[in-house]
Amino acid sequence: MSISAADAVTGLLSTAGAREYLGEPVTVVEHLLQAGWLARRAAMPPALVAAALLHDAGHLLEADGPAGLPGAGLMAGSDDDHGARGARWLARWFGPEVTEPVRLHVEAKRYLCATEPGYHGLLSEASRHTLSVQGGPMGAAEARRFAASEHAGPAVAIRRLDEAAKDGVVRSQGIEHFLPLLTALARDGA
Ligand code: FE
Repeated sequence: MSISAADAVTGLLSTAGAREYLGEPVTVVEHLLQAGWLARRAAMPPALVAAALLHDAGHLLEADGPAGLPGAGLMAGSDDDHGARGARWLARWFGPEVTEPVRLHVEAKRYLCATEPGYHGLLSEASRHTLSVQGGPMGAAEARRFAASEHAGPAVAIRRLDEAAKDGVVRSQGIEHFLPLLTALARDGA
């Protein structure tokens, strides 16, 4: 029997890795709940709320490194490709309107840093560090190609929430708040 999206996501956000900080002022689970809540508060479509909530799923699926910390490989200087890993996992339940912004949220950072003056200054210290590991800001041709790609807009929207969702003070909603939305979106929600 296959596990429902709601159960899988609840389980993922309950892992030990979700309680790690990864160099930010908030834990991974707080970061994800804040991102989802910011999307919800901004009345974004359900698929984008889900993508915001789950954009770092790939970090939590990772079990590499001696410490087994999520994101440890990335912080140590190798690009761990957590966007693609998260997207592959989420594709068991969700379509491209959820998985593509997740897959592309690191590329969206590289795009925004290349095209928006001042965007680099919005990045957290940890995120600035990983930018260099992830290839740095896009070149002009790469940025044009990215902007013209199908899911660039949603990916950029998720990325902006990613930067905003590292606030050590803001209270968001718990995962229960998001489960009906996830169930309605998921293939098991039919
Ligand atoms: Fe993030």
